[in-house]
Parts: sequence; structure tokens; C-alpha cells
Amino acid sequence: MKINCLSCGHKVDLDDMYDDYAGQVKCFACGAILEIKIEEGKLKSVKLASRVARPPDEEQ
Ligand SMILES: [Zn+2]
Repeated sequence: MKINCLSCGHKVDLDDMYDDYAGQVKCFACGAILEIKIEEGKLKSVKLASRVARPPDEEQ
């Protein structure tokens, strides 16, 4: 299943082991921590657990 990152809108891909899962996943696009709850393959809740500590715009 895929969930939308609340921080950047990226679709975070989760495999089947997340069909019953409650906890945190990291958006690999922006690094935000999402707190999600999935029961029987259905997304019950998703919220932003933390914002990006260091935005990836420092490299030039
Ligand atoms: Zn993101």
C-alpha cells in the first residue's frame, strides 16, 4: 500500500508486512517521520510525528 507523506506529498511505498502495523515510518523523500496505523490492510490514521530536522538543501 502507499500512503501520502503529510510533509512533502510523496507516496511512501509500504510492503505487505505493514498490513497490520502501528508505529512510525520514515518518508525517504523528505525524511519526515509519519506515525501510521494500519489494520487489515486499511489505513486507519496517519499523522506527522516529527518534522525534518535538517532540510536537504545545504549541498551546492
Ligand atoms: Zn515526505
